[in-house]
Order: sequence, then structure tokens, then C-alpha cells
Amino acid sequence: MWFKTDKCFINGEWVRPVGGEKLQLENPSDGSNLCQIARGKAGDIDLAVKAAQNALNGEWGSFSALERGRVLTRIGQLVLERVEELAIIEANDVGKPLKQARADALALARYMEFYGGAADKIMGETIPYMDGYTVYTLREPHGVTGHIVPWNYPMQIIGRSVGAALAMGNAAVLKPAEEACLSALAFADIANKAGLPAGVLNVVPGLGEEAGAALSAHPGINHVSFTGSVAVGSLVQEAAAKNIVPVVLELGGKSPQIVFDDANLEEALPFLVNAGIQNAGQTCSAASRILIQSGIYDRLLAKMVERYQGLKVGEASADLDVGPLISKRQKDIVSGFLDQVEGEAKIVARGEIVPEAPKGGHYVAPALIGGVSAGHVLAREEIFGPVQVVIRFETEEEAIAIANGTEFGLVAGIWTSDGARQMRMAKKIRAGQVFINNYGAGGGVELPFGGTGKSGHGREKGFEALYGFSILKTVAARHG
Ligand code: NAD
Repeated sequence: MWFKTDKCFINGEWVRPVGGEKLQLENPSDGSNLCQIARGKAGDIDLAVKAAQNALNGEWGSFSALERGRVLTRIGQLVLERVEELAIIEANDVGKPLKQARADALALARYMEFYGGAADKIMGETIPYMDGYTVYTLREPHGVTGHIVPWNYPMQIIGRSVGAALAMGNAAVLKPAEEACLSALAFADIANKAGLPAGVLNVVPGLGEEAGAALSAHPGINHVSFTGSVAVGSLVQEAAAKNIVPVVLELGGKSPQIVFDDANLEEALPFLVNAGIQNAGQTCSAASRILIQSGIYDRLLAKMVERYQGLKVGEASADLDVGPLISKRQKDIVSGFLDQVEGEAKIVARGEIVPEAPKGGHYVAPALIGGVSAGHVLAREEIFGPVQVVIRFETEEEAIAIANGTEFGLVAGIWTSDGARQMRMAKKIRAGQVFINNYGAGGGVELPFGGTGKSGHGREKGFEALYGFSILKTVAARHG
């Protein structure tokens, strides 16, 4: 049995949404009805914000950093005990192969451990100042933090944003995505059972334009963390600006992996392909552009083709390389991009949708597209599906220009054995994270993450998130 509910979690209780309405969740592997969820709206967000405010004014507000850390650590332990259940929930809800869903559940536990351990290790400073003064800084919570998360990696995104917010003593209102929100609700159940006081974490499922918009515009919210599309991120920032509230935006990407002639191709190959097809390419940091230097272009492309031809696509429970896309809508968007392959650009390899894959599922066979010019729409726009474009380059300068030639700047990978080039490239690439001779570094919770340009602003993960989820106060004492 796995956890499901058609209620909201507000003030430590499971409650019906004020309007009594429900939404239907779909299983993307076969298109069947998964279960119903609450259709939370502005009234529910309002109750959730009030519950969070009360928590801050009550027991939670007086918790020491040590006590906050302990409860987060306990949540992490309970997540570990329920990893299999959470993996099944996510596989059913998002459609991701079980091993990928299991990795997400383990990452959620790891975030709780990391932020549980970090809660009492964030310190202020003393500042040398004029004679007669003692000056120091304090890190204090914003208050009520709003968290709007997408459907592609719910557990990881909840871990990194809610985990850091609670470690710093904020109280959270979480609006998960309407396409996949069961792991967020299961997380509330776990937090509750781990002893998180009532009102510290509130979860209101619902539509983006209803519950999400109400959350980002609510005057009682003191900080908004948004992960999702550029278009909605802009709306959220606008709404928060009306209340002069800080916003972290974790948006899309068109991240490159750049492979030079002197790279170790055998080492690079699995990173190049996996980073494009993981979670069916529905990953903000997907390596959707592979830039290959001309001396190895044909050889490396042939190796990638071979790998693509071995990729198997099927239902989440079959645990193959790739699962379905989240929805018919997403499948249509990806198919629309594939229809634009023309001229020099050609699909050079595709994976296989296994015959047993249920007919109602939203499957797209992974597509590798060669001969793409840097200015092509396929090389500029985020596709958010299992599609990678391969672009040829000649020189280091050209590679930098192509890599930096989109509106995004989230992540980049550089493959070269030339140490000086590694350093030059790492400085010149416009991205929040640069990986040298790897891609993703295992996704470590310790590593600050975020974008530049249309990939957003602000940082989550690592200690950096704890600074973002707190306010710095300077205290200057004049004592003569
Ligand atoms: P989306 O922007 O449509 O939805 C994201 C969340 O915003 C959902 O919870 C949704 O309900 C909510 N929302 C929708 N309309 C809203 C509104 N008017 N006001 C407030 N909230 C609203 O994004 P999506 O299509 O579900 O997710 C895919 C996008 O997310 C991709 O662009 C991807 O790159 C990005 N993403 C980024 C990261 C990152 O860390 N940078 C991680 C995952 C996904």
C-alpha cells in the first residue's frame, strides 16, 4: 500500500479543501486514473499561511537550531524507512523508472540529513568597528516561505527548498504540481509522524493559476521559492514584487556538454547520453546540447548512435532506461519539436519503445539529432523530452560562443584533458554549475545550484540555500 489522499495538509491536519473540489491524477505509463487529489484554492492557501504564521509565533518560533536540526534528521530517517513506498508513488505519479524514483527518494532523505545537520552550523560574524562598539550579525528566518514545485523531480525539489527553509526556522506552505503531487503529500505525512509541529509545513495541492497564483501573491508570504517554467516564473516574480518579497527562481535550461578532441571518450559517453535521457529528458539540467570538436565528431557521434539504439522505453514499473512523458500535452510539445528537424539536421538514432509498453502511455522514443546548427530552434529552446542535439565546433572560442549562445545558463559539462583549458572554459561558460570531466557530480545536495539569465536567479542546495532562506541582521552595540 502506498500513501494517497484527496485532502490538503494544513496546521498538522488532513482537511478537505474549502471548496470541496477535486482534481484527477493520471498514471502517465498507461493513461489510467491514478487517484483524486484536492483542488486547493485561495481560501486554502489563506488557511495554510495563517497556520504557518501561528507556528512561527508558537512552539516552532522558540525551537533552538539544534531542535530544528533534530526534527529534520528524524524526517530523513523516516524517509529512508519509506524509500520503497515513495519510489512506487513517484513511479506511478511521474512515470519515472523505479530506480530513478528510488534515487529521488534517497535524495530527499539526504537533504533532510544535510539540512538537519547544518541547522546549528550557520553562524553570524563579529565585525571590527569603531572603538566603543561591538558589532555582530544574526541570521534570522524570513517567516512564512512559499514553495511552488513542478512535477518532474518533486522529492528532490521539496528536499532542497523546504529542507533549507525549515532548517533556518521558517514555516512553509508548499504547492506541488497538479500533474504529480502524491510524494509531496506523503512527505507531509512523514514530517507529521516525525514530530514536526503543526503548521510548520502545510501542503495545498491545486492548479497553478488558482493555488499557485494565490500563494505567490499572498501578503502573508515572506519569501517565494519557485521551480518551473520561465513564463510562470515571471508571473510569480511579478506577484511577489507587489509585496516586495524575495524570490528564488529555478527555471529552465539548454545545458551543453562540450567535448574536445583530447577528451576521454569512453568516460564521457555514459554521461553524455544519460544526462539527456534521464527522467525522459524532463530535467531542468538535462544536457540537451552536445558540442563535439570536429576531430572526434564522427567517431563520438557513432558511439552515441550505438548507445541510443540500445535504449529501451517502457512503463515505470518495468524499470527500463526511459519512462513515459508526464502527459499527452508534454508529448505533443516534444513531437512538435521533432517535426522541426529539417535540412542539415537529421535524427541519427532513436531508442525503442518496447512492444509491452501500454498503449495509453505518453511514450516518445529518445531521439539524437545530428548536424544541428547553433542557431536552430532545436539548439536554442528547451524541449523537455528525451531529445539531444549534436553540434560540431572547431575552436575553443567557437565552443564558448555556442555554449553561451542561448538565453539560458544553468549547467555545463566540459570534457578535455588539457588542464589550462579546463580552467579557462570553467570561467568563460555562463552557467550556475560547471562540471569538468563529469556531468552532475552525482547531484550532491552539498553543491549550490541555480541559474543565470532565463534559467533564473538565487541559489538552492548546499549551505548557500541556508543564506538565501534567512535574513542577515546587523547589530551594533555602543558601550563606550
Ligand atoms: P510550470 O511553470 O508550468 O509549473 C510549475 C509549478 O508552477 C506547478 O506547481 C504549477 O502548478 C505552478 N504554476 C503554474 N501556473 C502558476 C501561476 N500562474 N502562478 C503560480 N504558480 C503556477 O512548469 P512545468 O512545465 O510544470 O515544469 C517544467 C519547467 O520547470 C521546465 O521549464 C523546467 O526546466 C523547469 N524546472 C526547473 C528546475 C530547476 O531547478 N531549475 C527544476 C525542475 C524543473
